[in-house]
Amino acid sequence: MSRAKDGAGPGGARLAAALQRFRVQAGLSRRELAARADIDRSVLSRLERGAYPHQVRSETLSRLSAVLNCGDSLHLAAGTASPGVQDLSPMLQQVHSALGETAIREGLRRLELTAVASAFEARILSRDGKQVDEMRLCREVGTATGEPLEPRGGCSSAQPAWRRFWIGHDAAHTILKTICKWPYVLSEETDANYLAGLLLAPDRLVQAAVRNSLLRELRPAWTPDCGGVVGEVAERLMIPGWVAVRRIAESGHLDYYLPSAEEEA
Ligand SMILES: [Zn+2]
Repeated sequence: MSRAKDGAGPGGARLAAALQRFRVQAGLSRRELAARADIDRSVLSRLERGAYPHQVRSETLSRLSAVLNCGDSLHLAAGTASPGVQDLSPMLQQVHSALGETAIREGLRRLELTAVASAFEARILSRDGKQVDEMRLCREVGTATGEPLEPRGGCSSAQPAWRRFWIGHDAAHTILKTICKWPYVLSEETDANYLAGLLLAPDRLVQAAVRNSLLRELRPAWTPDCGGVVGEVAERLMIPGWVAVRRIAESGHLDYYLPSAEEEA
């Protein structure tokens, strides 16, 4: 018979593990943490054992989080809406619960990366403005080697697109560590790949390359095969094909470039 466990909410075990991890990292005993967060020691003890019989109060989590300096991690682990969410309008709260906290955080992270990348855009273009100059990118970010930091697969002078990608990826790591503030990273590598794509293929260049490819051939965007467009964009921006596919999809403007009668003339 484990009445306490039954009542411990779905996030009980995850919260218990997170709480213990952050407390140990902070070098605090349970007694010290309870005192500093001004919560009852027996409550803390039960939370850490996953044996708290009630829905844990958001305020309790906020106090513990403040002492442990662990952002919204405890709220996430407990499956409790974080403090900012509680202030949202009912409609936005519905959006939040439909999409889930992780999806929202990921979306916000992407917005931040997009904003950071576009802040660099004007300063890292080549003189003719048609490509990103990876040396300028290195100078702006302060990585300054002009070569990828470590040797990686496909990375040789015979594969300039890959070489540039890894330079962009290394620059992205530096930006993530020095400029980005948004604390919710799913994986730093995922973010570095994503940011590298944004840096090497800014929207405006992607759109220009797509437009150029479609207009020159008078090729409608809605053909079953858009491999030709992807190849041309990759070549023009000197990026790997998979980055081109991703950036074309993300820039979301392919459908605007069906040639108009005027342009065809
Ligand atoms: Zn990396």
